[in-house]
Amino acid sequence: MTHVLDGNAVGDRIRGELEDCIETLAEAGVTPGLATVLMTEDPASETYVSMKQRACEEIGINGIHRKLDADAPAADLFAAIEDLNEDPEVHGFLVQMPVPDHVNDREVLRSVDPIKDVDGFHPENVGRLVAGEARYKPATPHGVQKLLEAADVDTEGKDAVIVGRSDIVGKPMANLLIQKAPGGNATTTVCHSRTQDLASKTRGADIVIAATGVPEMIDGSMLSEGTVVIDVGVNRVDADNEKGYELVGDVEFESAKEKADVITPVPGGVGPMTITMLLYNAVKAASIQEGVDVDLP
Ligand code: NDP
Repeated sequence: MTHVLDGNAVGDRIRGELEDCIETLAEAGVTPGLATVLMTEDPASETYVSMKQRACEEIGINGIHRKLDADAPAADLFAAIEDLNEDPEVHGFLVQMPVPDHVNDREVLRSVDPIKDVDGFHPENVGRLVAGEARYKPATPHGVQKLLEAADVDTEGKDAVIVGRSDIVGKPMANLLIQKAPGGNATTTVCHSRTQDLASKTRGADIVIAATGVPEMIDGSMLSEGTVVIDVGVNRVDADNEKGYELVGDVEFESAKEKADVITPVPGGVGPMTITMLLYNAVKAASIQEGVDVDLP
């Protein structure tokens, strides 16, 4: 029987444990503050930010939102970042990507105070992750690690193949899996668009993590029996329904499920974990900055 991992259930369990941490912080007079900054009219980005804000509200984190016009000068964004860096009520914040073309996104990431960088994308936090001293693990790969743990998948000594090498998913995922630490110790291969004979790589894997943004590009024929399949992809494809579209992953679920021991669905797999692990980082940020110990899940 294939185990279809329920990301909502795992996420809810972790959120429950985070609520206990928030209670501990409250007893010390601290409310974690998480700010989001949006500089685009892109509906997907607006949706992501409102989901993050709603999640803060539900769990007892003080959600703060800053909206800038997409055609505002870059200096306005850097001024907003500086304000948040200085604001003692804000323990963590993120600038929703992508930012408009006239803003240098690398400079944006570098402008966030690393101690408040709950996305974990500042070069200092990337370096800490690589060095095995992670402060804030990026939410999506951290969520994948928690899902694997929840499914009792021991990564130690396993062959893991990650398809995708982005800074937000593929690379940090690889850095987590190669750490000499629980949830790591995997022999890790990172594939990308220039990889030759991808199927031979995925067929040789015990764990396949797909993060390409190419709808259903990995199917059952590319997997061996008993593989653990984690699908990070979220892709809108045209569909004959009311909305006119449906969400699919980077994995062709039905054929992959025939081969997989464990598989995540889309939606309802990795997605709910990403926001959960952002909340985790916000709680951790408050704990670090206020000097209050909490028992993080
Ligand atoms: P990017 O576009 O930044 O990166 C995609 C990666 O996939 C690149 O490294 C690219 O290679 C590689 N790739 C593209 N096509 C192929 C191919 N045919 N064969 C092998 N590799 C390929 O995407 P992200 O990492 O930001 O996101 C990936 C997916 O995950 C998307 O569907 C996104 O929506 C989803 N996502 C979901 C999240 C969640 O919470 N569930 C969070 C973040 C992302 P190259 O580097 O050579 O171009």
